[in-house]
Amino acid sequence: EAKNAGVSQIRSFHPALKENFRQRIGLESALREALERKQFFLCYQPQVSASTGRTVGMEALLRWQHPELGLVSPLHFIPLAEANGLISHIGAWVIDTACAQLAAWRQAGHADLRMAVNLSATQLLNPYLEDTLLGAIASHGLVPADLELEITESVLIQDPDQTVLRFNALRKLGLRLSIDDFGTGYSSLSYLRVLPVQAFKLDRSFVEGLGKDETSLEICASAIRLAQNLNLDIVAEGVETSAQAEWLRALGCPIFQGFLFARPLMAEAATAHLAQERAGGITAEAAGTELP
Ligand code: C2E
Ligand code: MG
Ligand code: MG
Ligand code: MG
Repeated sequence: EAKNAGVSQIRSFHPALKENFRQRIGLESALREALERKQFFLCYQPQVSASTGRTVGMEALLRWQHPELGLVSPLHFIPLAEANGLISHIGAWVIDTACAQLAAWRQAGHADLRMAVNLSATQLLNPYLEDTLLGAIASHGLVPADLELEITESVLIQDPDQTVLRFNALRKLGLRLSIDDFGTGYSSLSYLRVLPVQAFKLDRSFVEGLGKDETSLEICASAIRLAQNLNLDIVAEGVETSAQAEWLRALGCPIFQGFLFARPLMAEAATAHLAQERAGGITAEAAGTELP
C-alpha cells in the first residue's frame, strides 16, 4: 500500500523532508486528539448587507488551538483531516457548534440571521452528512433554511456526478448552498445549470485586484451580473478597503464580507458585535478596526 511505500521511501529523503514527515505524523496524532481535548473553537465573521450595513449572516470559521504550535490555520489542518478521514467527525462538531450559536443568537432576538458553514469534498460525499445536519438543526430548534453550506468549486472537479447528486439531496432538505471561492476552481460554468445553488462567494483574489487591474474589475463585474441574472445572492470575500467596497457597491454587489467590516470574531465578540449593531452603535465600516 502507498502508506508502507511512503515509510520505506522516507529513508532516502533529504533530512528536511524527513523532518517534515515527522512533523506531519506529529500533527496528525495531535489532530486525532484535538476534539476530545477541546482544542477546537469557531470564529464567526459577519456578512454584511450592502444596502443596510447590517449583518445578515455569519460564517463559521474553524480554529485549532494547539498547546505548543499555537493557533494552526485551517489551511494546514483541514487538508490533513481530509486525508486521514477525521474531517467528517470534526465537521460534525462544527455543524453542531454553529447551530447552537445561531440558536443562541436567535434567542437573543437576531431573528433573520443565517449561519454559513464550510464543507470540504469528503464531508460532502459522506453518507451521514444529512443525518448530521438534520440532527443538529432539529436539536437546536432551527430549520434547514437557516443554514448555508459553503462548498468550493474545486470539489466539483473531483467527482462531478456525485456532487450533483449530493447537492440535490441537500437542497431537497431545504438547506441553502453556496459556491465558495467562485472563479478559482478551473471548472466549467456549465455546472450552474445542474447545481441547485442560492449563492456564490466572489473570491478574495478578484476583490483584491479591484482598482489595480482591469481584468479583476471585469471578472467582478461579470460575476456580479451573472449572479443577478441567475437570481442568486453574491457575497464578496476579503473586502479590506473602502475603495474595494465602493467598487463592489457600484457593481451592484449585495453582500460584503471582509476585514473592513469585521474580522472573524470569537463567539463572545461576535455576540457583542451583533448587540452593538442592533443598538445602532456600529457603522458598518468602523467595525473592521476594533477587534482581533
Ligand atoms: P474560506 O471559506 O474562503 O474563508 C475565508 C477566509 O478568508 C478565512 O480564512 C477568513 O479568515 C479570511 N478572510 C476573511 N476576510 C478577509 C479579509 O478581508 N482579508 C483576508 N486577507 N482574509 C480574509 P480562514 O479562517 O483561515 O479559513 C481558511 C479556509 O479554511 C476557509 O476559506 C475554508 O475553506 C477553510 N475552513 C475554515 N473553517 C472550516 C470548516 O469548519 N470546515 C471546512 N471544511 N473548512 C473550513
Ligand atoms: Mg467559506
Ligand atoms: Mg471563500
Ligand atoms: Mg477563500
